[in-house]
Amino acid sequence: MPLQNYTIRCYGKDCPLEAVYKIASRWSDGVTGELKTYSLCCGECLADHFHRSRAKQVACRLAAGETLGPPSIFLTRRGAHDYQLRRMTPLEGQSLVDARDSVTDAK
Ligand SMILES: [Zn+2]
Repeated sequence: MPLQNYTIRCYGKDCPLEAVYKIASRWSDGVTGELKTYSLCCGECLADHFHRSRAKQVACRLAAGETLGPPSIFLTRRGAHDYQLRRMTPLEGQSLVDARDSVTDAK
């Protein structure tokens, strides 16, 4: 499949690769909801970005009535709506192992 227009660049510092994954949490204020994006990144940067996204999510302050789910990894596609993105659940566990840090899982 030929790529047209532009490609989304990885958010990684100085990373020249194309972003393949989107790291986002489901946010809701009880009325409306959306995906809150933490990062768009390539496979190389995924574990690192996923790890940082989790730290940000934990540190995020919410107003009364707001909920913010844990970050998930989605396969991103140019022009796709959030609800069309495929969640890559197996990668989430793998990325946590790769990141190997002392942050404990909230669950
Ligand atoms: Zn990257």
